[in-house]
Amino acid sequence: MTISEKKVVAVHYTLNEGTAEGQLVETTSGREPLVFIYGIGMMIPDFEKNLAGMSAGDKFAFGIAAENAYGKYDDNAIIELPKRIFENDGQIPEGLLEVGNVLPLQDQEGNQLHGMVAAVGLETVKMDFNHPMAGVDLFFSGHVESVRDADPTELAHGHVHGEGGHHH
Ligand SMILES: [Zn+2]
Repeated sequence: MTISEKKVVAVHYTLNEGTAEGQLVETTSGREPLVFIYGIGMMIPDFEKNLAGMSAGDKFAFGIAAENAYGKYDDNAIIELPKRIFENDGQIPEGLLEVGNVLPLQDQEGNQLHGMVAAVGLETVKMDFNHPMAGVDLFFSGHVESVRDADPTELAHGHVHGEGGHHH
C-alpha cells in the first residue's frame, strides 16, 4: 500500500536544523513512531508531499525551507509590553520574567498565544511571538514504518485511533 490521501501513516524520523548534520531537534528513534492521517492538514504540507507514493520500508531524506515550515522569523513579532501586566497582586511572580521563559498571554480579542521573554528592561519586557522554529530550515530523515487505510471514525474525528493514536 502506498501513501496517499486518507491513509494512516506511521514514520520514524529524525529532524535536524538545516542539514542532516545540523543540530538535532527531535527524533522518534527508540520511541513510538509518529502516526498521522495523510492529506487532512495534520502535518506541514511539504512534509507530506515528500512522502507521497512511498510504502512501508521506504527511506526518506529531504529539507524544507523555513518559509514552507514554521515561517520566516518576523521582527515585527517582537513586542514590547509593560512589565506591570505580568503583576499578580501588585508583584511580578519570582522567576517569571527570565529570558527564554515561554508565557501564555491573551490578545485584545481573547485569543491565547505564547510568547518567549526576549529581554527584560526596567519598565518593559520584550516578548517574542515567533514560533520557536520560525526562520529554521528543517531536514527530515527516516523511514516509513506502515501504511494502512483510515477507518471512517478516524476520518470523522480527524485523528488516528489505536496504536500511536487516541484511545477512546
Ligand atoms: Zn477519535
